[in-house]
Amino acid sequence: MLVNATDMLQKAEEGHYAIGAFNTNNLEWADSIIEAAQQAQSPLIIQCSAGAAKWQKGYKVVSDLVHDLVEVKNVTVPVALHLDHGTYEACYEAMAAGFTSVMYDGSGEKDFETNLERTREIVKYAHERGISVEAEVGSIGGEEDGVIGMGEIADPEQCKIIADTGVDFLAAGICNIHGIYPENWAGLQMDALAAIKEKTGDLPLVLHGGTGIPVEQVDEAIKHGICKINVNTDLQLVFAAAVREYIEAGRDLEGKGYDPRKIMKQGRQAIIDRTIELMGQFGSVNKGWGC
Ligand SMILES: [Zn+2]
Repeated sequence: MLVNATDMLQKAEEGHYAIGAFNTNNLEWADSIIEAAQQAQSPLIIQCSAGAAKWQKGYKVVSDLVHDLVEVKNVTVPVALHLDHGTYEACYEAMAAGFTSVMYDGSGEKDFETNLERTREIVKYAHERGISVEAEVGSIGGEEDGVIGMGEIADPEQCKIIADTGVDFLAAGICNIHGIYPENWAGLQMDALAAIKEKTGDLPLVLHGGTGIPVEQVDEAIKHGICKINVNTDLQLVFAAAVREYIEAGRDLEGKGYDPRKIMKQGRQAIIDRTIELMGQFGSVNKGWGC
């Protein structure tokens, strides 16, 4: 059975580690990520963007697939299914489909007041149904599903106001971006993170754009209160590299090497290995007990 992400993130906040939130794209992705969590005995947030849900024919297919995988694989670690960067409408669609957690990304709303009002409304609706909610203050840079953010630094006062709506965890921009970081990137702004943490207390904080951040910066961010680290591009890169290696070696031309299961198996194993490695880096391995 799936759980919401509140408990596991509160435990991470208390224990000073982070839980990876890995984006799924299809059966192979979901199965590999869940397999990694079970092998590492780590709590897991498996998340899906609107674009990836559309690719899979909607939130219901994604939700049914993840629920079924957790059941048939006899998964014993806590797993939450989370909507990544949901619009107001998408949050309700995902909740109706069985997601146990949603991110309402109000950074694209016309003003902060609208973000605040809608966050309050979604929190109330979600909590009545045992669903956890992530909100966002300050946009995350880079491109995700066609949304381009500038990577602004969140205002600690606004973070405090959003925190007081009762959200379960909060994404706050600290110069992090989606996708691959440019050469001239300034790095995560730890002072900004510390200022946000001071205002938001023990509320778990979320780091988006977890691909390619130097390990020392990730460690420091976790020390400063980051409890959820979003990873998307990283797994896409290892998947693509593994499949490319198989094809470039001509293995698809040997015997029945063209069998899609044989091709996907390469990428599948790459996702499992990398996810376990990241869970180790975030400190969530063997934290799956008793949740
Ligand atoms: Zn994000």
